[in-house]
Formats: sequence, structure tokens, C-alpha cells
Amino acid sequence: MLTAPFEFRRASTVNEASDLLQQGTEVKLLAGGHSLLPLMKLRLAAPEMVVDISGIPELHGVSVHDGVVTVGAMTRHVEVAQNPVIQAEAPLLSKTAAVIGDVQVRNRGTIGGSLCHADSAADLPAAVLALDAQMVVSGPDGIRKIPASEFFVAPFVTALGAREVLMAVEVPAMPSDAASTYLKRPHPASGYPVIGVACWVGNGGTSVKMAITGIGSTAFRAVEAEAYLTEQGVNASSIGEAARLAAVHAPVEDDVTGYKRQLVNVYVSRALHQTMAGKD
Ligand SMILES: Cc1cc2nc3c(=O)[nH]c(=O)nc-3n(C[C@H](O)[C@H](O)[C@H](O)COP(=O)(O)OP(=O)(O)OC[C@H]3O[C@@H](n4cnc5c(N)ncnc54)[C@H](O)[C@@H]3O)c2cc1C
Repeated sequence: MLTAPFEFRRASTVNEASDLLQQGTEVKLLAGGHSLLPLMKLRLAAPEMVVDISGIPELHGVSVHDGVVTVGAMTRHVEVAQNPVIQAEAPLLSKTAAVIGDVQVRNRGTIGGSLCHADSAADLPAAVLALDAQMVVSGPDGIRKIPASEFFVAPFVTALGAREVLMAVEVPAMPSDAASTYLKRPHPASGYPVIGVACWVGNGGTSVKMAITGIGSTAFRAVEAEAYLTEQGVNASSIGEAARLAAVHAPVEDDVTGYKRQLVNVYVSRALHQTMAGKD
């Protein structure tokens, strides 16, 4: 199916992209196009103007400074998966990006596009939540940072303002002793997670972070399970109770049969066992 007609522009700076965002009622930024273009072809989106941001130098690059890894919004999934700095400092992010879609999707899709699209079934929101990442955004009022915990508002809705551009994702480097897992049950047709659990354990077991995607209206932190594991330590007996707590407190809807909570229980348990076994 063909898209509705639209004007195509290329921005060369973030300010230019932000200015173009106010030039019509419906202007969309184009990153990897792997979510936007399918929507346009299905006529679920019909922007008047599409602004290609792939050539903006400020949106590219990966760096680490003072214990914080900065990943440019235009960094493609394959780069997030394979970049040695991210693999060393924030391996949970690499592991998550490595299982997004297929090779073609990972070669085109970007971290910024995925997070701004905010599909409730996307993989990366779980990782950025579990890592306490911050979104660095630029708009008419300058640059501000939005914690991942405040970024995902509802399905396909983020805390980004109408003229704001996501520039980068800042991820605190994980402790050197941290073990982590991203465990996903891919939908057999789409490959998106039916459920995805991102978790890491570090600082001698005193830091336990876990976030879940695919099962609620947005990805969420399993705070009750985290608190229990931090108090009890992560071991074979505490994992069962933590998984139960995650399932009981999961903000799921339309779960008449209890299937979604059962998925949470099983996948949290598996992800924690995998983490403690030091597997990928
Ligand atoms: C066949 C297929 C399978 C897929 N499987 C998975 C999967 O298993 N798991 C998964 O998580 N995802 C999956 N995806 C989605 C994929 O990860 C996309 O790459 C991603 O959702 C969007 O990234 P993009 O760079 O393509 O963004 P685009 O499609 O270009 O943009 C998406 C949205 O974000 C906005 N946007 C993009 N960049 C910025 C920015 N810097 N600032 C502000 N707004 C911005 C755009 O305006 C648009 O509204 C799949 C996609 C396809 C086509």
C-alpha cells in the first residue's frame, strides 16, 4: 500500500529539525523508518511533512564519560548490540538490542526511533527502565533530561514535547560485578516480545533492577520484586517469591484467565536464574 502524499525534508541540525516540527499540524521525524513507514503505508499516519534526521551529526556516536554511557539517538540497533563500549559498560542494553526483530530491522532501526515510538511491546523500554537511563531531549526551551521512568506515558505516547527531538540516551555504567539478562518470549508472527524481562544484579547483590515489557500498556519496573530481592539476596529460594510478587503487582489489564500474570511469574523466574548462572 502507498503512503498519502507528503513533503520530504532533510534536517542537518537538531535546531532545524525542531523548527520544522512546528511548520504544520502533522510533521514527523524519520529515523530508521521501521515503525513510521509501516504506519504511513497502512494510512494509520498521514503526516504532511516527513523530516529525515539521519544526517544530523549530533544524533550519532557512542561515548563514555564519568561513568555514564551516552548513546546518540540515531544509533542503530545493530550498533547498540555490537558496540564495544556499550557491551563493556551497559551490556544489558546490548543484549536487548541484539534480539530486536531480525537482521534487517536491526540494521535500520534506531534506539531513538524505538524509544520515541513507544510501542508497549517494544524491547528497549525494558532495558532503559532497568538501567535508570535518562533521555536527553532538545526543544525550543533548550536541552532537558527526562528519566526513563517518566518517559513512557501510554502506548505510543511519551513525555516528549511537540517540538522536542530526542538527542541521546544516557545510561549509567553498570557495576563491574553486574550480571544481566534480557529474556524475551517472541511473538511467533511478529517477533515482538509477548513478554520481555530485563534485569541485572550487581554491587554484591545489593543492587537488583528489573523491568518488564510487552505485558502492560507501557513497560514497567517490578519494584516489589526488586525490594524483596535486595533485602533477601538473590538465591534459589528468593527467586520464586520475587517472581510471585512481580506477577501479583504487574499492572496488566484484560487478564481474565491469568495468563499474563503467569507469564510474568515464569519469565521473571527464568530471567533471574539465567542472570545468576551468568548466562546471556
Ligand atoms: C518487521 C519488523 C519487526 C520488528 N520487530 C521488533 C521487535 O521485535 N522488537 C522491537 O522492539 N521493535 C521491533 N520493530 C520496530 C523497530 O525496532 C523499529 O526500528 C523501531 O520501533 C523504530 O525505530 P526507527 O529508527 O525505525 O524509527 P522511525 O520509524 O523512523 O520513527 C518512529 C517514531 O519515532 C519518532 N522519532 C524517531 N527518532 C526520533 C527522535 N530522535 N526524536 C523524536 N522523535 C523521533 C518518529 O517521528 C516516529 O514517530 C520491528 C519493526 C519491523 C518493521
